[in-house]
Amino acid sequence: MASYKKLGKMAEDGIWGLVVGDALGVPVEFFSRESLKTDPVLGMRSHGTYNQPAGTWSDDSSMVLCGAEGLTEGLDYEKVMGLFARWYNEGYMTPHGETFDIGGATRRAIEKYSLGFPALECGGREENDNGNGSLMRILPLCFYLRSCFGEYTGYQTAFDIIGRFSSLTHAHPISIIACSVYCSAASFLMEGHDIASAIDMGSEKGLAACHSKKEWHKWADLFDGLSSKELKLQTLHGIKSDGYVLNTLKAAFWCLLTTESLSQCLLKAVNLGSDTDTVAAVAGGLAGIYYEPDEVFDSWKQMVAKKDMIEALCRRFARSLEERQGV
Ligand SMILES: [Mg+2]
Repeated sequence: MASYKKLGKMAEDGIWGLVVGDALGVPVEFFSRESLKTDPVLGMRSHGTYNQPAGTWSDDSSMVLCGAEGLTEGLDYEKVMGLFARWYNEGYMTPHGETFDIGGATRRAIEKYSLGFPALECGGREENDNGNGSLMRILPLCFYLRSCFGEYTGYQTAFDIIGRFSSLTHAHPISIIACSVYCSAASFLMEGHDIASAIDMGSEKGLAACHSKKEWHKWADLFDGLSSKELKLQTLHGIKSDGYVLNTLKAAFWCLLTTESLSQCLLKAVNLGSDTDTVAAVAGGLAGIYYEPDEVFDSWKQMVAKKDMIEALCRRFARSLEERQGV
């Protein structure tokens, strides 16, 4: 079991795990698994898919940083959505002043918000609105919830908040269930459990909370097979790393279960191919909570664009969490 960290440190390390994973994946987003097998990512690369310098992060990190900034002063959905709109429209919270990567549902939700719709009415509700766009940015909320409730999976209010936070861009039950399971696993990691137990308990609690809504049963049933035992039995072939939220969640859990350090976990995720940055970001958020950063990870972190800005924001967010917690 990883040594117990204070909440602020877990938040900083978790966000860094996510940002570094994103930056490792950006140059090879959409690359096939086969091509990465012959030329695997072993560290920060430049150019590639978006022709960006090494250390460039994308929408995943931008939206997480906007979320963390918004949550620093408490939970205000309009404020968070306003920051997302600034990111989309003005390049706010981007590595080089421009937004170069955005998912369809997220773009539609932000455009709706810009037309004057309330934040909680903007997220897509259709079954094909289940890309991984809310899962990839839900991490700061886990820290916020812990600062309010402690281990939060016993609180229906916490799951209601997770559902609303996802719904800013992704309001379909599949996306909300994926976020509920992920946040539950995060809660158990923060409680000091190992990765396999956190995934098992997190899947159980997250799904139980969603099963309380009868009309969601058919969606929750899609999440069968998320236990650590079943996931560990999966071969590489059984793991899909595309942009469908359920596949991203499974792939991220699989990477966490089959590696033994933060840097290993991120490389495994990126080299799955396809939605490289987001699978690594989603896995990296949890891996960052659990592991102490290793030397290789630290060397990558030094290369991240706007490192000082991210560091300062993470500190402010961490301080706000510990103040709320009364530490
Ligand atoms: Mg991205």
